[in-house]
Amino acid sequence: MKPHLGDQVHYVERDRRTDQPLPCRLAFISEVPRFLNREPLDGCPNGTDGEWIASLVVVGRTGFAFAGDADYLTPHGSNAPWAEDAATSWHVAADCEEAS
Ligand SMILES: [Zn+2]
Repeated sequence: MKPHLGDQVHYVERDRRTDQPLPCRLAFISEVPRFLNREPLDGCPNGTDGEWIASLVVVGRTGFAFAGDADYLTPHGSNAPWAEDAATSWHVAADCEEAS
């Protein structure tokens, strides 16, 4: 899913203690890097094999936060097996079954 500047998406962070995903948070795409920066596709154009990274402005309970180079990861599935363990990820709100 190609990200575009200003797209409204969901952001997911993993709980550092349990390694489980935390609830989705509202976010907006703020930057789309030209190249991927992590193995196994380091240096390939962003979007290679469906791996899209993006920087996000995340809406929190008490303010905004910023997340750099979050991986695109569908809510239920493994579109990018190498990104399944991503500490931070984003997905399209319409694909999400969680309350939106
Ligand atoms: Zn979601």
